[in-house]
Amino acid sequence: MLENVFIETYGCQMNVADSEVVASILAEKGFKSCTDIGEADIILINTCSVRDNAEQRIWGRLNAIRHLKRKNRGLIVGLIGCMAERLKKKVIETDQLVDIVAGPDAYRQLPSLIEEAQAGHKAVNVLLSREETYGDIKPVRLDADGVTAFVSIMRGCNNMCSYCVVPYVRGAERSRDPESILREIAELFDSGYREVTLLGQNVDSYKWSGGGNNLDFSQLIEKTAQIDPLLRVRFSTSHPKDISDDLLRTIARYENICRHIHLPAQSGSNRILKLMNREYTREDFMSRIESIRNILPGCSVSTDIITGFCTETEEDHEETLSLMKWAGFDFAYMFKYSERPGTRAARRLKDDVPEKIKIKRLNEIIKLQNSLSEKSKRNDVGKVFEVLVEGFSKRSDDYLTGRTSQNKVVVFPKEDKKKGDYVRVIIEGCTSATLKGKII
Ligand code: SAM
Ligand code: SF4
Repeated sequence: MLENVFIETYGCQMNVADSEVVASILAEKGFKSCTDIGEADIILINTCSVRDNAEQRIWGRLNAIRHLKRKNRGLIVGLIGCMAERLKKKVIETDQLVDIVAGPDAYRQLPSLIEEAQAGHKAVNVLLSREETYGDIKPVRLDADGVTAFVSIMRGCNNMCSYCVVPYVRGAERSRDPESILREIAELFDSGYREVTLLGQNVDSYKWSGGGNNLDFSQLIEKTAQIDPLLRVRFSTSHPKDISDDLLRTIARYENICRHIHLPAQSGSNRILKLMNREYTREDFMSRIESIRNILPGCSVSTDIITGFCTETEEDHEETLSLMKWAGFDFAYMFKYSERPGTRAARRLKDDVPEKIKIKRLNEIIKLQNSLSEKSKRNDVGKVFEVLVEGFSKRSDDYLTGRTSQNKVVVFPKEDKKKGDYVRVIIEGCTSATLKGKII
């Protein structure tokens, strides 16, 4: 009997949540999750396809795993998630090491795919579903701190941003039954968790209708916040075309809904936003930021930027820089455009910004964001924040670490506090990545 499963996760928070669903499906059938790859009978790699370098890393990882298979002929290796969905059978044609290929909607079939692989066959299931939400599955918390957890509230995406492979590899958007979401969160709270992050590619379009019950995202987040005032609620990702004032006002009513919004701008140029099919303009984006500042004073805003998209000129790039300055983002994820086969941009537009220019623009964006992030942290010095303790700091067990409602990491001497406590911390200084303070 094969027993130990090692799951390695790449990519976004959604993949982290998916790996926990996979662990739960396998635990039901008697498999155990292990933390030492050397002890594994089955290795599952949960993959990301969003950029080419994510896929290249995974091919590299497979190479590194090859020696384990040489030592243990019975070892089963599975590639699951977005890259499995994108490449389908080609994965096995490219690398014979892989025994199982399973897309994001095929996780319930993993036990039977493992059986097939045990019998010596290559096992593939990459069917996408219009209904699957894994709503009834109680995730096994892997690598858990016991305080913060991701909760997936929807799957797939209907947006069709021209650069993005997500709708092709994760399928159409579907929302999860609110009852199962709220039950999962209440159970997390009862077992000591104090923060949940509601996850979806576009949480603002969450919509449930069933059993005479209609619920949108504002209503779902309100019900989540009402579970307990000591439960912090975060969410990701919001879409600038869909985030509503109604949602912002709901957040304003609940202190336990965190004052942080991740709002990917992608570009500051209207021409590029149109080519990206983002369905908002620079001005629309600015008006959403203004609403956030008006309705939620003190709320932090982070973003995603893609630089070097098809036909991007120096003027377009300048517009992105000026939007970043105007918005004063507290944090940003910044990427070079990476053409993904099959997307609308790959079919219709030319990936014509030379690599050298992409790198130069990316560096300029990173440099600007570093200064904006630093300014945002310096502004916090002297202020007092409520921090949820997540554990010891990496450097020393005499220090604790946690985050402010605004999602900034704070390190402070531990005194008599522990994981899961709320403390009030005065900020006394900062480094480029963290705030430093002491409990008051
Ligand atoms: N659904 C979310 C949204 O709309 O913002 C995020 C989805 S995606 C997994 C995360 C980020 O990856 C995107 O916001 C975008 O900045 C980036 N991304 C997506 N496709 C990309 C591509 N082809 N090249 C570079 N970056 C990309
Ligand atoms: Fe991709 Fe756009 Fe959907 Fe986000 S909203 S997952 S960027 S298609």
